Amino acid sequence: EEAQTSFLEPLNPSSIVKKVIGVVSGKGGVGKSLVTSMMAVSMSGKGYKTAILDADITGPSIPKAFGLSDNGVGMTPNGLMIPAVSATGIEVMSANLILDQETDPVIWRGPVIAGAVKQFWQETLWENVDYMFVDMPPGTGDVPLTVFQSLPLDGIIIVTSPQELVSMIVGKAVNMAKKMNIPILGLVENMSYLSCPDCGKQIAVFGESHIDEVAENYGIKVLARIPIDPKIAASVDAGTVEYLEAPWLKDAVDAAEAV
Ligand code: ADP
Repeated sequence: EEAQTSFLEPLNPSSIVKKVIGVVSGKGGVGKSLVTSMMAVSMSGKGYKTAILDADITGPSIPKAFGLSDNGVGMTPNGLMIPAVSATGIEVMSANLILDQETDPVIWRGPVIAGAVKQFWQETLWENVDYMFVDMPPGTGDVPLTVFQSLPLDGIIIVTSPQELVSMIVGKAVNMAKKMNIPILGLVENMSYLSCPDCGKQIAVFGESHIDEVAENYGIKVLARIPIDPKIAASVDAGTVEYLEAPWLKDAVDAAEAV
């Protein structure tokens, strides 16, 4: 409860974000941005005004997935950033939208990264957002922890893949969330299996998943298993992620709605 009072207030008095849901992972490349994007797409599809705050400052991949370019962010006369808006109306704020060169590496240190996230939260004109999804910095180190502490998260979703030491990663994320009193909506396992295009059989490419045991150990739910699918990679590449169907996220969407 104590932690709640130290959360930052948006500088703009008319900023309203009703629910903030963080998407976390143990490392980069497991599909955290994909899950963030698809959760936003699903909620927006249900009629909620939806936003994405891309807090993965050093690997910002949200704009590309939505086909947004670097001139999408505006500025109000009193210096607030106006988020970019995707084709279907999802508001996006990301370092990729304000840096000159998309390919410039971001080599900022932890405090600067955390500062940028705070600015995205405080100094952006977020108006009447029903659901904001935060693509958190990967890992469970200092940077994600600081971001955790500065945003009023209403819940988190943990994304894992079967190649990882899932139990350890989930344990760390659970501890971090517990310390901050933030509810864990559950686990999403990405790249869970491959469906054979000819026979439909599910192939466990990275071996059998241990996600159910891990979830049970920590008393949390498995919300989704997402297959490896070339269609997913292709739509992220083409910037058309908002036209991808995400039937596998149904339980995760229900959990977000119940927050
Ligand atoms: P993270 O945010 O964890 O770094 P991303 O969501 O950016 O990971 O995913 C990493 C890469 O893997 C992206 O190119 C993405 O398109 C691809 N990818 C993610 N999930 C899948 C999947 N289930 N099937 C195919 N490609 C995927």
